[in-house]
Amino acid sequence: MHHFHYTASNLHCESVDLAEIVHLYGTPTYVYSAATMADNYNRLAKSMAGLDLQICYAMKANSNIALLRHFSNLGAGFDLVSGGEIQRVLAAGANVKTSVFAGIGKTEAEIQLALENGIFSFHVESEPELARINHVAGKLGVKAPIAIRVNPDVDAKTHAKITTGKSDNKFGIPLQNAAAAYAAAAQYPHITIKGVQMHIGSQLTSVAPFVEAVKKITPFVEQLKATYGITYFSIGGGMGIVYKDALASGQQAWWDAQPVEQRPLTPETYGEALVPLLQPLGLKIVLEHGRFMVGNAGALISEVEHLKLGASKNFLIVDAAMNDLVRPAMYESYHEIVPLHRDTTRRALVADVVGPICESGDCFAKDRQLQAVGEGECIAFLSAGAYGFTMASRYNTRSMAAEVLVQGATFELINARETFAQQIANETIPAFLKR
Ligand SMILES: *Cc1c(COP(=O)(O)O)cnc(C)c1O
Repeated sequence: MHHFHYTASNLHCESVDLAEIVHLYGTPTYVYSAATMADNYNRLAKSMAGLDLQICYAMKANSNIALLRHFSNLGAGFDLVSGGEIQRVLAAGANVKTSVFAGIGKTEAEIQLALENGIFSFHVESEPELARINHVAGKLGVKAPIAIRVNPDVDAKTHAKITTGKSDNKFGIPLQNAAAAYAAAAQYPHITIKGVQMHIGSQLTSVAPFVEAVKKITPFVEQLKATYGITYFSIGGGMGIVYKDALASGQQAWWDAQPVEQRPLTPETYGEALVPLLQPLGLKIVLEHGRFMVGNAGALISEVEHLKLGASKNFLIVDAAMNDLVRPAMYESYHEIVPLHRDTTRRALVADVVGPICESGDCFAKDRQLQAVGEGECIAFLSAGAYGFTMASRYNTRSMAAEVLVQGATFELINARETFAQQIANETIPAFLKR
């Protein structure tokens, strides 16, 4: 469920008419719903009732400091993947002490920054990384809390670029080698074994792979508790969201109308299947969802530049491009596209929706049926809150989009559109070229 809906033919985020945001801040602009994020967080927490739970929002999905503060206010810690993300948590006035640090290539400087700020735990992905963490902790005269990421070799049945739990990808330590990795960790004087971690992939639409993975590593988790006294088990993130019927899925009625076996994964289904497996372990359970928390809470608003009508194809050319939202180009992913002003009297149009970048890949949708829209009118790409702005670039010397956060009837700019001067601020012409 989310808070993007039509009121009097105009698309709103909560009680704010998106046309008002376009009027003030232009396009392309990302708009986020604070209420949707709070609902997502609270539903997830409620669905896991009965567990000692810690939700670490995977901030790589969307790391704007306003969103971090919002999640921190709700009680979340963070799943961090870089020193930059640690600094964002600090800039947001949020807590590193309830956050976990993941990633396969943490540098010494990043490890140090995490230790100095009292990180809850490092999620370790290899034996050389253990040695490095031990070395940095020794230099600082502290003990580093760790969990090892165990790869359960389960097929998450998601897109190849976002599956991580199979034995042939670069993440984690295979289950059969994990006991040896823990034994190695126990030998390091500056490491404290605190937990165990797994994460099998992203955009999972069924609970079965999660259940399979948890069941598969449960005996090992119990063994770790007995041997090393671990206190927590992180089961990662990866809960999927609705992309195809994004607008309709904002309403409970849409969910009720879906046949049970085809219903996308909900936090309730997730909790019902997993709590009975996790509760008997008697451990703190850490969740690291990113996409689920913010994906359906964001939309990218874009203005139509031209409608180019062709003999065999029509092109709707908009002012957003693959640099703003790369998911369709990178993962062939689907985003629902809706007009800001709905007019049911207009004819339908079938068009490729494309950006202005000089690449054929700069295409958001092929042969998409939409309400006819013309130059100067706006559209919204829904379910764009996760892996949207954080994966954006400046390709074609396009500025980073603006970001706006809505709460109820109020909204505020949380990231001003980048200026050209900011884009080239660090570039210089070397003396040997000046003549
Ligand atoms: C990316 C990632 C997550 C979050 O994935 P989502 O699909 O956004 O929930 C959680 N844990 C780890 C280790 C990750 O790499």
